[in-house]
Amino acid sequence: MIINRQKILFIPFPFSALNYQKEVAPTSFTPFNYTNGIYKPPLLLILDIVKPVQVNMYNRRYFIKTTGAAGISSILAGQPLLRAMFQDKYKMKPLRNNVGIFTERGGTIAWLISETGLVVVDSQFPDQANHLLDEMKKQSDRKIDLLINTHHHGDHSGGNIAFKGFAKKVVAHENSYAHQKRVAEERGGLEGQLLPDTTYKTGVWREKVGEEVMALHYFGPAHTNGDSFVHFENANIVHTGDLLFNRRAPFVDKTAGANISNWQEVMEKGYETFDDDTLFVFGHSGNGYEITGKRADLKAFQNYLRKVIEFVKKGKARGKTLEDLASATEIPGAPEWKGGQSRPVNAAWVELFGEG
Ligand SMILES: [Zn+2]
Ligand SMILES: [Zn+2]
Repeated sequence: MIINRQKILFIPFPFSALNYQKEVAPTSFTPFNYTNGIYKPPLLLILDIVKPVQVNMYNRRYFIKTTGAAGISSILAGQPLLRAMFQDKYKMKPLRNNVGIFTERGGTIAWLISETGLVVVDSQFPDQANHLLDEMKKQSDRKIDLLINTHHHGDHSGGNIAFKGFAKKVVAHENSYAHQKRVAEERGGLEGQLLPDTTYKTGVWREKVGEEVMALHYFGPAHTNGDSFVHFENANIVHTGDLLFNRRAPFVDKTAGANISNWQEVMEKGYETFDDDTLFVFGHSGNGYEITGKRADLKAFQNYLRKVIEFVKKGKARGKTLEDLASATEIPGAPEWKGGQSRPVNAAWVELFGEG
């Protein structure tokens, strides 16, 4: 049974305002966030820091109003646990069969918390991973059976280190492992990292965890060359990692072997492998769009990728330069994928016409 803090307190925390879904530079943990390939300058980052504070103030005001308690600050000051509750910015949302999602900052995390097994898929950053780990410890004394990385990017694997000593096994595609290791070495060492200890190369990697069965599926290069669909088979929930950006222009990591043409094929294979009952968890979503969805969303994203290729092909034929095309903010035929299109357009150009 998942305990939902919101229900216990009967306080409508405006968590959704903090449901950050940011893409972060793959080789960096610097505070400079990329959003659809656009660098977010430090001034805007200050707003990221201010926003949670504003929401916490709202929570505290609400608490005062609903309880009528006077001197709430002094109560909070004397109650570390209570204070921690009011400072939480994250959200644990159950989906079904003891599987749910954790959202705070970075790519969505999926979890399984049951009496017979614990699984974590992706880890955001160390602070966020610790928030999740604390919640899991409240509900179970078990070690985490599997920590799985959908791929290597820092907003999905940067928090692995928080699970050191708590996760029995860390699993990812072998290319994800290679990128995680490379990035860590480029950053000066492996000490601050927890790398996968179990990898697979092709097809499906599968393991039973209590009453659930976890399966990783690899269909070739897409967002990187090491992305897995991660399937909770009994719950029939799939974490897509960054294989699907829901109505938001995707990050395409060419330096890590991304391939837009094959990405369309990966969407097709995913569509064929899973079914209408499958609930999908996406790494990121556009403003106002859900972080979970259905099989039809794979087709819609496949269409977006196809339209990117078409847009670049037709644009060049009409004499447009790469620079012209990369400045687009939406793609004809797939206008829901808002945001800077420079990364997908650049990737499509390289695949169609080479670096030149
Ligand atoms: Zn991501
Ligand atoms: Zn990614």
